[in-house]
Amino acid sequence: MQGKLEDLVESLTFFAFVAITALCLCFTFSVIVYSMGFPTDPHKFIVANLFIAACVAVPTAAIAAQHEYKMRIYQRTLEDMASTDALTGLLNRKFFKQFACEEMARMGRTEMTAAVALFDIDYFKAVNDRHGHAAGDRVLREIAAVAYSELRGPFDKLGRWGGEEFVILLSNVDAEQAHSVCERLRSSIENHVMIVDGQPVSVTASFGLTILPPNSDFDEMLELADSALYKSKANGRNCVTASRELTLAA
Ligand code: GH3
Ligand code: MG
Ligand code: MG
Repeated sequence: MQGKLEDLVESLTFFAFVAITALCLCFTFSVIVYSMGFPTDPHKFIVANLFIAACVAVPTAAIAAQHEYKMRIYQRTLEDMASTDALTGLLNRKFFKQFACEEMARMGRTEMTAAVALFDIDYFKAVNDRHGHAAGDRVLREIAAVAYSELRGPFDKLGRWGGEEFVILLSNVDAEQAHSVCERLRSSIENHVMIVDGQPVSVTASFGLTILPPNSDFDEMLELADSALYKSKANGRNCVTASRELTLAA
């Protein structure tokens, strides 16, 4: 896990804080000793004390700052592990839902709409059966990367809902835009050829989509997307189905 620039800046700030504190302590000690009348040459005494103070302050601050930097990286690693799916690196179910609920609260204030879509890889069991579980894992990772590359970076969120099922939150889109994003994604997945055990492998995915009106309930909306996904499976797979509510809204 790499540290970020802000970790370095925070650690350097911590270094300065500890160094100044240590210098102040040493200087206070010097003033007390001086006021007790010990030194014979005040000038030499002050120089010697400043030198000793710096010798104490700099290493102390360096050790403290290094520790602070390590702790920050460690904390960031733990946060990442808690929020991401280990196989694909996407948001895990818990954090996706948390993010989606926060986004919905924000939309409630701005009266914007978003969309949630579920997609499930078609006949994925056959991929595992034919090429093995490890190859299946590779396919999942590649499909996750393909889907991620099709979305609008920080605005849309992609998560692994479980198994070979993924979830997408499209912010600030209407029904038509959401449908065309899913269609684009479906087509990219279909056209993406992976090499597994030296053989070309491609998969398709079925999509279920619903719009999230401001102040809607995320779990209810997800159920609608799930029902739409079932319809895509029933209609022959490799297609996008919008929930009835979305069709009416469109
Ligand atoms: P459908 O088109 O109806 O979705 O068929 P399917 O074969 O994709 O669906 P099914 O539910 O029958 O099988 C899903 C398979 O996904 C079975 C399971 O072993 C596999 N799977 C789930 N999670 C993982 C995983 O993390 N890695 C691998 N390699 N396979 C997984
Ligand atoms: Mg499937
Ligand atoms: Mg499934």
